[in-house]
Amino acid sequence: MLRLISTRTPLAQTASRHARVLRVPLFTTMPKLYSTSTDDLDLVIIGGGPGGYVAAIKAAQLGLKTACVEKRGALGGTCSNVGCIPSKAMLHNSHLYHQTLHDLKSRGIEVDSVKLNLPAMLKAKNDAVSGLTKGVEYLFKKNGVAYHKGAGKFLGPHELEVAGLDGTTSTLKAKNFLIATGSVATGFPGIEVDEKQIVTSTGALELEQVPKKMVVIGAGVIGLELGSVWQRLGAEVTVVEYQGAVGAGMDSEMAKAFQRSLSKQGFKFKMNTKVLGTEKLADGRVAVKVEAAKGGNPETLDADVVLVSIGRKPYSEGLGLENVGIKVDERGRIPIDSEFRTSVPHIRSIGDVTYGAMLAHKAEEEGVAAAELINGGYGHVNYDTIPSVIYTHPEVAWCGKSEDEVKKSGIAYNVGQFPFRANARARTNGDTEGMVKMIADKETDRILGVHIMGPNAGEMIAEAVLAMEYGASSEDISRTVHAHPTLAEALKEAALATHGQPIQI
Ligand SMILES: Cc1cc2nc3c(=O)[nH]c(=O)nc-3n(C[C@H](O)[C@H](O)[C@H](O)COP(=O)(O)OP(=O)(O)OC[C@H]3O[C@@H](n4cnc5c(N)ncnc54)[C@H](O)[C@@H]3O)c2cc1C
Repeated sequence: MLRLISTRTPLAQTASRHARVLRVPLFTTMPKLYSTSTDDLDLVIIGGGPGGYVAAIKAAQLGLKTACVEKRGALGGTCSNVGCIPSKAMLHNSHLYHQTLHDLKSRGIEVDSVKLNLPAMLKAKNDAVSGLTKGVEYLFKKNGVAYHKGAGKFLGPHELEVAGLDGTTSTLKAKNFLIATGSVATGFPGIEVDEKQIVTSTGALELEQVPKKMVVIGAGVIGLELGSVWQRLGAEVTVVEYQGAVGAGMDSEMAKAFQRSLSKQGFKFKMNTKVLGTEKLADGRVAVKVEAAKGGNPETLDADVVLVSIGRKPYSEGLGLENVGIKVDERGRIPIDSEFRTSVPHIRSIGDVTYGAMLAHKAEEEGVAAAELINGGYGHVNYDTIPSVIYTHPEVAWCGKSEDEVKKSGIAYNVGQFPFRANARARTNGDTEGMVKMIADKETDRILGVHIMGPNAGEMIAEAVLAMEYGASSEDISRTVHAHPTLAEALKEAALATHGQPIQI
């Protein structure tokens, strides 16, 4: 008997586990999906982010008459416009700049007079954003999704008012609705964001000059990624974190190694420290007042720019939820059941605005599953195998349980590790920092978690996700042929180390 551990919300748990293990439809008799009113659309989706636009395309492909309402003026949501895509463009190009300045010489490449052209770097980022958001618009046309530019607000259970960006107002009637309105940055009480000196991630992707000193409040994924961008471009970055570990809940051993790596790069960390407030000074700088999380040791940090990155909160403002009787929970999330239904059954919700990890790929998977369910079929998301990636250098990626979680659950387990310094490809690339760590059930050898810090960790984790999706053991991975020399061989060696002995160290 395999033991499964889950981080899923209890509601979503039962349905998706059944779908995964039994590979059968969730219901033999589908519940009635919508009323038989004279609604003219099958589905209206509110929000054109990764959750909403993917759901729209899938629904249209399934033959549903589908419309998507988006108020931003561009499709792709937070992810494409002010999140995943612009941050990855800046991370990639700032890494190239930093590497050119500090690393190429040792590789036998000499470059004279390296200069940063920040406006050009920002333009490259903006070009990536506009190319991708226009790409989504093209996909809507190709698949026959009606795109309404405007803000959606429920007037009643089957009626949505659209306040168009062109000043017009229209009403959409549909049998089904899907709320995919995403999230916004969480504010810090008492700190006013102006997106110039005191910024959220949105402002941090638009700074017109490299700050001399940047204070990042919060050592989560977004703070460390955007801190990395500006640190590589020349800023002195200090991260203030209330907790004792970076990485918002990642495996604690990996978190320690990651923090050491970032410190070597020049990051300063003030851990177990709370921010008391900020004060804008006459000379254009900002004073950030901090003290120990437990109290005492007050200190003032000096900054040109302060990045507030303490998390994101679900966004459903102006949606008219009160007009349809949907109530958000204490954290602002729209409550749903295992088929994404809100308390009004034909109105469903997915992505950041409801339960679970705030990740684009999680929203996309939910979008597909929701469209399938609305179409009367079955759909599921395996919440146990959603990967997380921090796109710094080295990257950090993980899937499944951390060792801390497995320990807490009381399950007997094995751990295998393999360092990149013993991996041939990492050595040829001169990029050997980090390791792969695998955790497997001691009794069954089923993989419970994989944690990678190293070059290309974000690509490598895909193999672990697939293995876990199919319930693989560490032995399965170690008996799978991996091309030589590749970084992926480190995963194979870590698998060998989990149930037996690695060969290459
Ligand atoms: C800086 C940053 C970096 C990130 N990097 C990553 C990453 O590398 N990988 C990853 O997986 N995730 C990343 N994320 C998280 C990711 O962006 C979100 O998890 C994802 O965008 C959520 O998708 P969604 O469809 O639920 O919502 P969103 O992408 O937030 O889209 C919701 C859309 O709904 C629209 N909307 C809201 N209300 C209405 C209304 N009433 N009418 C019409 N439209 C409305 C909004 O304008 C918005 O465009 C990052 C986020 C940030 C901020």
